[in-house]
Amino acid sequence: MAVKGKIEIIHPDWCKACGICIYVCPTDVFALVSDKIVIEKGDNCIGCGNCELSCPDFVLKVVDDDG
Ligand code: SF4
Ligand code: SF4
Repeated sequence: MAVKGKIEIIHPDWCKACGICIYVCPTDVFALVSDKIVIEKGDNCIGCGNCELSCPDFVLKVVDDDG
């Protein structure tokens, strides 16, 4: 059974620190540290996919959290 997703930073070097993912995340998962995106509160992720869909540089991906 699929359970809630988890966010991963799959291409950290592609992040241009635009902050869109911070803006669209409903659960305050991300922070910018030294102009790079970091997952600050990963347990908050509900797998909604907003950040993956909104990131202009394909940095983020929601993965299954069941294995
Ligand atoms: S999938 Fe949704 S809850 Fe999870 S980090 Fe992205 S925007 Fe936030
Ligand atoms: S939306 Fe993408 S490029 Fe912008 S800060 Fe987030 S991860 Fe980086």
